[in-house]
Amino acid sequence: MSFKLQVGEMKTEYLTDKEIWGHFNYIFSSKSRNSTTYKFVLIKSILENLYNVNDKLELSYSTLFSSFAKIYWNMVIHHNLNQINMYGKKAEVQTILYDIQIQNQIPNTLVFDKLSSDIQVDIINSVKKKCKINVMGAIYGDTGCTIYDFDNSKEQLRLNPTYYAFMQRFQRVLNYLTNYHLALFLEKFNENGDTTNLLLKVENVSKRSSLDQFYQILSSFYNGKCFYCGKTIKNGNSHVDHFIPWSFVQADQLWNLVIACSNCNLSKSDKLAEKVFLHTVIDRNETFISMPTIKKREDMQVYSSSKLKDLYNYSMENGFTEFLETKENMGLIVFHKMDKN
Ligand SMILES: [Zn+2]
Repeated sequence: MSFKLQVGEMKTEYLTDKEIWGHFNYIFSSKSRNSTTYKFVLIKSILENLYNVNDKLELSYSTLFSSFAKIYWNMVIHHNLNQINMYGKKAEVQTILYDIQIQNQIPNTLVFDKLSSDIQVDIINSVKKKCKINVMGAIYGDTGCTIYDFDNSKEQLRLNPTYYAFMQRFQRVLNYLTNYHLALFLEKFNENGDTTNLLLKVENVSKRSSLDQFYQILSSFYNGKCFYCGKTIKNGNSHVDHFIPWSFVQADQLWNLVIACSNCNLSKSDKLAEKVFLHTVIDRNETFISMPTIKKREDMQVYSSSKLKDLYNYSMENGFTEFLETKENMGLIVFHKMDKN
């Protein structure tokens, strides 16, 4: 059995799309051992972190299990959803979370990102400790030992480049597939009446309740002006906006966030911005990297302009083909050009 493995080496680097689809179909099928939601949440966590890998495609367990712990906390504590295929029993990670909740007297209403950073770290470490033994080897085994190399002592995985490219190309459909199967599992093993709109819950379980922590850094950079239209934003009307829509990236990285006015934020919604804005964000990120306090942030350390360009191109390839286009955009181009002179 591969699920207790501590180290796994990638067997083959090259796989065809058909072979990789086969592996995913297997993971989601009844043939795979899915007594808990762990595998679904691990895939969801990998997809969320596709653009948090370094240039060797390595991903630290602390980043990976931050996503995992957040998703689990929000499902178990916030939505009260059972994660194992037996009534009256709990998945081990569920028990860990309940214990932390009781110890710290945390109400069910609190979502993960509202917890104090000490408690968040405690949860992430406890979840990581449990999952690295039970979960890392499981997906590895289900993919015929091809999806990644992993090392539980180094607490790191390295994605197979063929898999990585596949997940970039099919990110949206893989997200849908994972959310759908996760919701299906939860529907089967929860009868407490909390299952209405399960898919909607699962789709939004990773979303932060607030982007305030980014606002502080961004607002000083944009000086009260909207990134898209360049107009001065009235008090209280500025929003932190995902340059590449959240519904695609499913993650919040400083390098993909800008400040927008309510109008632009609303009309942009799930759309992309024209390419000229991409270059402006890349320039902005160069400035960020030159600032020591920002440079050492975890999300900035794995940033590169080619990563953002890839993300932009892959979002189009995944069906994000609508663009925010207003007259003001033209004004912005002039505004930014003037800014540089
Ligand atoms: Zn605007």
